[in-house]
Amino acid sequence: MALIVQKFGGTSVGSIERIEQVAEKVKKHREAGDDLVVVLSAMSGETNRLIDLAKQITDQPVPRELDVIVSTGEQVTIALLTMALIKRGVPAVSYTGNQVRILTDSSHNKARILQIDDQKIRADLKEGRVVVVAGFQGVDEHGSITTLGRGGSDTTGVALAAALKADECQIYTDVDGVYTTDPRVVPQARRLEKITFEEMLEMASLGSKVLQIRSVEFAGKYNVPLRVLHSFKEGPGTLITIDEEESMEQPIISGIAFNRDEAKLTIRGVPDTPGVAFKILGPISASNIEVDMIVQNVAHDNTTDFTFTVHRNEYESAKGVLENTAREIGAREVIGDTKIAKVSIVGVGMRSHAGVASRMFEALAKESINIQMISTSEIKVSVVIEEKYLELAVRALHTAFELDAPVRQGE
Ligand code: ASP
Ligand code: MG
Repeated sequence: MALIVQKFGGTSVGSIERIEQVAEKVKKHREAGDDLVVVLSAMSGETNRLIDLAKQITDQPVPRELDVIVSTGEQVTIALLTMALIKRGVPAVSYTGNQVRILTDSSHNKARILQIDDQKIRADLKEGRVVVVAGFQGVDEHGSITTLGRGGSDTTGVALAAALKADECQIYTDVDGVYTTDPRVVPQARRLEKITFEEMLEMASLGSKVLQIRSVEFAGKYNVPLRVLHSFKEGPGTLITIDEEESMEQPIISGIAFNRDEAKLTIRGVPDTPGVAFKILGPISASNIEVDMIVQNVAHDNTTDFTFTVHRNEYESAKGVLENTAREIGAREVIGDTKIAKVSIVGVGMRSHAGVASRMFEALAKESINIQMISTSEIKVSVVIEEKYLELAVRALHTAFELDAPVRQGE
């Protein structure tokens, strides 16, 4: 008999009908003999509606009170599902974060879990009850309700699984797993059977947003096996684990991530002196702007060009800061480009295979796609290209790394 934590997202509990469906599903699992802790999100759209109500009172709601209101969404769904289970003859009980005692720090709206009291849950499981817990919320040492940040129910699920040493944390959502890339861009994208935490973090941070990224970090840290599954379609989903078994069939690249969220800034004709990178990026970080890729060219005539990327939303402010710096250090000019995209190949298999980057560049060259910037890590190679070639690039790479599904599975 296994102990499983099952988390259902907002669309899975988005209506009474869906909640009844989830209850059926939970009932079946329970009857198969597993101990179950179910974590729920609010009905889809509900958290936004609650935030909107608060914003009608004030533009800047007090964070503590905002948590009081936004945490109510999950309180509704846990009660409804518990009723639906009891109606079906499945003993069940619901708890808010406070009732479990999911202790967090006091950073309202973005709290971090410090400790989980597992006593009540264990006692209920022992009595044969399904325990239904509100996701996204906790309580701080003063007894104030806190929330974990948008999408935080995933983190609640993983944290509960870690605290209870559950055999698996299953995240039920509206996709049937993690794909080699976005199937809207590459119809031949395949569902991955398995992916490592590390790879998932790279995929998630690069735009394959299936899971709240914090929950993946958490799962990796505590080694909680995490499985992404479709709420209403049968299937094995994708297992996210630590396990990196070297098998012959293991592809070198697990997936291709991409995003259009970044913009590029270049400061030209920078005097090539020690400390210049700090002079350029210091004021950027002092303005709380995060920098992603950085390239500094080899100096020529005692000056150099320095290029980096920032989030597109921060492009204008970064440009302002950089123009100031350019005047101060006597650089020639600042130029920028918002029409870029970043494409990354991700895979732990890269560690043991040479020539992965050149294979990537070759595939892009064949399509005459110009590479503007390159960065690499142990399990990832990223390039910045012109935005209009993004889809072509992703498709070409998907084929070059043999990720295309042989035959499209019937839906
Ligand atoms: N209901 C919260 C949100 O919409 C938490 C979650 O769904 O994970 O962000
Ligand atoms: Mg969610």
